[in-house]
Amino acid sequence: SIYSSKPSKNDNFKVIIRVRPPLPREQDQSCPFRSCLHITPDNKSVSLMEYMGAEVNERERQLDIQENPQLCVWHNFTFDYVYDPSATQNFLYDNTAKPAVLSVLEGYNATMLAYGQTGTGKTYTMEGFKYSGCDPQRGIVPRSMEQIFKYIEASSNRNSTFMVRASYLQIYNEIISDLLKTDRTALNIREDKKKGIFVEGLSEWAVRSPNEIYSLMQKGAMSRKTAWTNKNDVSSRSHAVFIIIVEQMRTVDNSKEIKVGKLNLVDLAGSESVRITGATGERLEESKKINQSLSCLGNVIAALTDVKPRTHIPYRDSKLTRLLKDSLGGNCKTTMMMMVSPAPEAFNETASTLKFGMRAK
Ligand code: ADP
Ligand code: MG
Repeated sequence: SIYSSKPSKNDNFKVIIRVRPPLPREQDQSCPFRSCLHITPDNKSVSLMEYMGAEVNERERQLDIQENPQLCVWHNFTFDYVYDPSATQNFLYDNTAKPAVLSVLEGYNATMLAYGQTGTGKTYTMEGFKYSGCDPQRGIVPRSMEQIFKYIEASSNRNSTFMVRASYLQIYNEIISDLLKTDRTALNIREDKKKGIFVEGLSEWAVRSPNEIYSLMQKGAMSRKTAWTNKNDVSSRSHAVFIIIVEQMRTVDNSKEIKVGKLNLVDLAGSESVRITGATGERLEESKKINQSLSCLGNVIAALTDVKPRTHIPYRDSKLTRLLKDSLGGNCKTTMMMMVSPAPEAFNETASTLKFGMRAK
């Protein structure tokens, strides 16, 4: 079967796939690893292999496929770009994140979202592996900061002054909490003619150098863990949003010019959370809320990218889409980054992620 979309006419809206390398736990010691994803050489399409045979172990499955190739059905998907497991953080940043950050420096809002099953690399892609300024595995959040400060340095002789501020919040069960001031929870989203969309009472931290972002990332990671000790793994069932605001004041012929751009970097709740079967009570309510919020995001993006202009965009149906209302669509660069595992055991989640990505296109 073929799920193909026309190449994006809208340069402000991109969907990319990132296939991470197999993890040790996904590898069977008794046979070589076989990816269930094949990426075309132009990095535009990916095929997902579905095995129609009986449920057997990986070694038996591989033998069966060798002897009976007709047991494999290939599903093809086309996107703006498909990153293979060897793609570096640096390459992904330059190829996918850089244009969004540059547009923020021009005074536009932009949003980058990481979608996928838990363990597919959302946090790796957004934040990176280690918290230091020279680690090649650092992710989009610190690299964005570096680019912003490179731009500031290059502009310093042009009568410009800059103000960079960062906030970090979590949406769990449709409740917004500040990750950098842990006593602030159940925050409300407001809209203001001047400020646009903002979260009332959310702390904002002035950032004066790219390295200052690491302490904020660490602080946020700590509160994502410790504020919820009685619940396991809330981080996979909540959305984490980094908001970076760049304000630029310039004096041109004695008049002041102000440009403000906002960058939203969103590490979404694990997409498998919506399919937890047999969940009851609190866990079921949680799953329903995640389901609602991820499908609402899909609906908003589908409405924004529809070829027929829509008059109604359903932003109001979830906290996340209300929060991103002034940063999706129009002149706002929007990038959906779909994370998948190459392992055959992840077939169902991978298929669901690729379909979600296609729907967004
Ligand atoms: P998620 O946030 O989606 O749950 P993580 O970012 O925590 O997933 O990634 C799960 C594991 O996979 C981590 O150990 C991470 O270091 C590793 N990983 C993810 N993506 C990559 C990649 N592109 N290259 C190497 N390791 C990766
Ligand atoms: Mg994560």
